Amino acid sequence: MITRREFLKLAACLSTSFGLSNFPAVVGAALKEVDYATVPRLLYLQGQSCTGCSISLLQAEAPNAVSMITRYSKLCFHTDLSAASGKQALNLIEEYISGRAGEYFLAVEGAIPWGMPEACMLGDKPFAHYLTEAAKTMSGAVAIGTCASHGGIPAAEGNLTDAVSLGEFYERRKLSPLLINIPGCPVHPDWVWKTIIHLVQVGLPELTKGQPKPFFETRLHELCPRYHDFQEEIFAKNLGDRGCLFKLGCLGPDTYADCPTRWWNGGQTWCIGANAPCIGCASPLFASKKQFPFYRIFEKEAAAESRKNEARFIFTG
Ligand code: SF4
Ligand code: SF4
Repeated sequence: MITRREFLKLAACLSTSFGLSNFPAVVGAALKEVDYATVPRLLYLQGQSCTGCSISLLQAEAPNAVSMITRYSKLCFHTDLSAASGKQALNLIEEYISGRAGEYFLAVEGAIPWGMPEACMLGDKPFAHYLTEAAKTMSGAVAIGTCASHGGIPAAEGNLTDAVSLGEFYERRKLSPLLINIPGCPVHPDWVWKTIIHLVQVGLPELTKGQPKPFFETRLHELCPRYHDFQEEIFAKNLGDRGCLFKLGCLGPDTYADCPTRWWNGGQTWCIGANAPCIGCASPLFASKKQFPFYRIFEKEAAAESRKNEARFIFTG
């Protein structure tokens, strides 16, 4: 007889080790021979970003990052990975945006400095210029990570640039290209690459609030192996303790992401598995408020109740 906790852990390990996806069609599709002539080109640009999402994407395991950018997509430009630089890089970007209508998808990492365009330049033009021009010719855009999807840390309260997400940017410019948001700080490589495989081989995945539904439809809290502890009111008092991490600041109850079943680092671990609270990095309001620290000291009942309400307010508006 195994406990619920052991069962969930075992299920998570098995699904990860077999590379199972929540996209049923993708599992079969990814194994099919790819017609290389039809795979889309990816133009990958970075705005107000720390490059953490790019680093995370390179950690992909099944398929690995090399397969993803050479077999399932053609990476035509990436700021960090491409050999082209300077004028040559700018020419390449402009050639795609102006001369290859309908032949490429735009991947954007990072927020856009709406109120201070000069804070993010590509050559002598603002990043925003390229995004506006690309909206006229691209097949669609993928916002990679929380900064591009929701604004993230660059858009935190008090920021000087009036940073906005890619969706907000296009809305303000009255443009409405096809857009898929894939949040996470950093983004999980599976969330991005499996969405791209789906786009290539099956078509547009089902979305919830603009995000691929299979990865972001369920509250993390409900998938968590410590949910039973939460129900039994067994709370950790210090990092490293057994028990639910809610009173140490866990935002699992307000976050929609499949981390408890997907795990990170090639299925080695994930935040709560490593005894750290979920900091809600995939949530729309991640890091948006100055007065909302990632971690908290153990909170007594009254403080925890007020924090619960505060979290609800912050995450639901
Ligand atoms: S509050 Fe956090 S640690 Fe507790 S059950 Fe929910 S997600 Fe898991
Ligand atoms: S568990 Fe929470 S903080 Fe950790 S990666 Fe998932 S959504 Fe982000």
